[in-house]
Amino acid sequence: MEETKIGPVRMLPGPRKGKYPHCHSIYVEGAGVLIDPASDRDRLIRLRNEEDVKMIWLSHWHEDHFMHWDLFADLPLWIGRQDAPPLSDLEILLDWYNMGQPENRSLRDRWRPLMIDQFHFTPRTPDRLLDDGEIFELSGVRMEVIHTPGHTPGHLSFWFPDEKIIFLGDYDLTWFGPWYGDLYSSIEQTLASGELLRNLPADTWIACHETGIFYGDTEKLWDDYLAVVDRREEKLMEFLKTPRTMDEIIHQWIVYGRAREPMDFFIFGERAIMEKHLERLITSSQVGREKERYYAI
Ligand SMILES: [Zn+2]
Repeated sequence: MEETKIGPVRMLPGPRKGKYPHCHSIYVEGAGVLIDPASDRDRLIRLRNEEDVKMIWLSHWHEDHFMHWDLFADLPLWIGRQDAPPLSDLEILLDWYNMGQPENRSLRDRWRPLMIDQFHFTPRTPDRLLDDGEIFELSGVRMEVIHTPGHTPGHLSFWFPDEKIIFLGDYDLTWFGPWYGDLYSSIEQTLASGELLRNLPADTWIACHETGIFYGDTEKLWDDYLAVVDRREEKLMEFLKTPRTMDEIIHQWIVYGRAREPMDFFIFGERAIMEKHLERLITSSQVGREKERYYAI
């Protein structure tokens, strides 16, 4: 993928089309603001050496957005107000991933060293907490902070109204659809944030993963992306016409389509998303539970 420059904003592509564990980064020239430093490590080293990077912002707390922040450890770190706690303590981060449940114990034990070795986790207290509606003048470039919770509670998107560029963060318009499987993720908020973002009068849409950059009309992309939520729910409702255990639901692979390796990671992800749907369906009295089995009402 090519590095793309639109006015004062540069999109630095991550390796492998910015697929996990990577993402695409944004760099605002002049102001020296680098957002989500988990793209190509060598490129970020060069950026650090050749340009006057002044601070690091994170769209949210996930490790595939902060991975190379160790290169900028001496610079101020800013993040959305609600997303600061997991950066302060690795155990909180793992809790926020819902790895506090007994069935996730072994995954939690594997993730602890992974977060430190591969993702350079070190406890950080952000230097500034960002809120919805804040407007910054970044060396003459206007930028507005938009709180877009759902994926994480403090997820932020960044809007450049004069250039009509929106940085969507992890509302990434991929075929996979949105992720809302963390302890504090929310399906309702994800859908609301998607609606808010799609209605911005943007010309350039930049997302953190895969295609990463879209121009012009994105209506169809948003339709398809948000429809993934309904599709998952419809499939689940269909499957629950016969009462099913959580284990049976997981092995239906409604989210990932099929079993993948490493198996315990994908079982974890499948469960995380399915639990959110079950919670929502139980609240709206569409699904009931009797002992270990869930059923459509
Ligand atoms: Zn994320």
